This record gives sequence, structure tokens and C-alpha cells, in this order.
Amino acid sequence: MSEQVLAIDIGGTKIAVALVNRDGGLIRQTVRPTPRTADGGEVFDSVAEAITSVLAHVTHPDRPLRVGVGSAGPVNGPAGTISPVNIGAWRNFEISARVVALVKEELGVAPHVALAGDGHCFALGEHWLGAGEDVDSMVGMVLSTGVGGGAVLDNKLFAGRTGNTVHLGHISVNAWGPKCVCGCHGCVEMYARGPALVAAARDQGWSGGDDAKALTDDARAGDPIASAVIDHGMRALAAGIATTATELDVRTFVLGGGVAKAGEVIFAPLRRHLRDFAVLDYVVDLEVRPAILDNAGLLGAAALAFSQE
Ligand SMILES: [Zn+2]
Repeated sequence: MSEQVLAIDIGGTKIAVALVNRDGGLIRQTVRPTPRTADGGEVFDSVAEAITSVLAHVTHPDRPLRVGVGSAGPVNGPAGTISPVNIGAWRNFEISARVVALVKEELGVAPHVALAGDGHCFALGEHWLGAGEDVDSMVGMVLSTGVGGGAVLDNKLFAGRTGNTVHLGHISVNAWGPKCVCGCHGCVEMYARGPALVAAARDQGWSGGDDAKALTDDARAGDPIASAVIDHGMRALAAGIATTATELDVRTFVLGGGVAKAGEVIFAPLRRHLRDFAVLDYVVDLEVRPAILDNAGLLGAAALAFSQE
């Protein structure tokens, strides 16, 4: 029987847990909503139930199980702690230690647990089985209510000292810009994230629906305000991508997330603006590909598990 790993994907709206084999096949999977509660123990109870339900199907309970945890950030990989912005009940929550204790209790053998941020797991998943399958190095990016990312360099996750490399949403593309929630000025996220696009459109008199999907739908239908706002936001993202490419010397970028699902209405202005920023010889031909997986974060958590010694 080929080895299975335990993949755990923790987000602000849902928690997914699966046993995954070497081919990326999901042997067992359970997905549940993230509890809306201020009680951190209660949130973990939900994760624990999901883990327990899939552990019943482990076929090698006598060997240490390899576990990968992907979580909304910020995370501290080496410390095994997470403080997801969108899960207020958890601050410096010791997720790795809790998972180790739970799995040991269930199987009798302590597992090996690795932790990474959701942007990093997204990149690992798309690199393993998605749009970046054919390259050794790529950057994965998520464009949704925030802007996240992660880099796989020479087929390995480039995690960084604390596990926060390629924090694409919070690199500044405007040194004179307004102050961001993070404390910096003119961050990519202030211009490009879905809610920022919607707010900018509102300011300019757009009266469409209440989310980025409505905005991208209107842009596709030719609404001039929606189109102009997206164009403006994608220029900021293009500057962030080009900066990242110039720093890391990577030419393949994979873009996913709810806003990116709108397709060409996002990718066309993004690629056009990239030509203004990705100008040095070694990045001039960088490409931005649409993500192809629906569960890149979960599969990336599995890849993270398999990558442990
Ligand atoms: Zn910021």
C-alpha cells in the first residue's frame, strides 16, 4: 500500500482534511465550515473531529504519519503557531503541537508535522499537480479578499525564516500611497484585492452588485467604471509581480483565487501592465498562467507533508 499523508487546510470559511496518496489522490476527505466563535478550543474541536474521521482510514497506523498543515496567515512555521486574521479565536495558536498530540492519541505514534501559510500551500499544490507542473520554479498567487503568494524554487518551497516569503499583498508599489492596515504604505492589496476594487468602483459611481464577481461581470459586459477600476488594480498587481520576478529571477507565475476566476477580464489588463514593469532581460518574458486546481491549498498541504524528511 503506497504511503498516505494527512493534509489539513485551514481557512476563514472552511476547514478541509484529507488522506492523500503519492499521486495526489484523495483517499478520504472531509470539509466543514470554520466555526464562528471566539472560543479557540471550539474551533480546534472542529478540526479535531475532521482529523479523527479521516484517520480511521489510515492503512499504516504503526509508522509515523506525515502531516502537512496549510493555514490562513500569519503563520510561524518553525514555531508551529498560527494567528489567522480571519479566525479571531486563534492568536499564536499552537496548531502543530495540537495536531501532534491528537494524532498520537489516535494512532499511538507521533506524526511528523509541517506547517505553512495558505499562499505557500497554494503554490505547492499548483506546482505539484496544477498549472506549474512542468516547471522547476514558480510563484503561486491568490487574488481574492486578499492577495497572497508563495514560491517554489528548484522544486522546493522557499519558506523563509518564519514561513512568510512572497507576501505579495503587502509589498509596497507606491511609496507615497495611503497607509495600509499592515502599517506600510501603498501595498498591492490596497489596490488589487477584491473589496478594494469594489470600494474604488463605488467611489466612482458604480452601482452594480456588492462583490468583485459583480464587478468583473460588469467589466466583461463593457461597463466603463468597472473596467477602469480593474485596470487600475491590475496595474498595482503587475508592479508587485514584476518586483517579485525581478527579485527571485522566476518567470512562471500562477494566479488563482476568487477574483482571478473571472478570467481574461483580469488577466488581459494584468499582462498589459506587466509590460511596463517586467522590463529587465531576464523577466521580460515572464508569464502569468491561470491556476487550474480547485483544491490547490489542500494538495499543497499534502505536498508539504511529503516533502518532510
Ligand atoms: Zn500592507
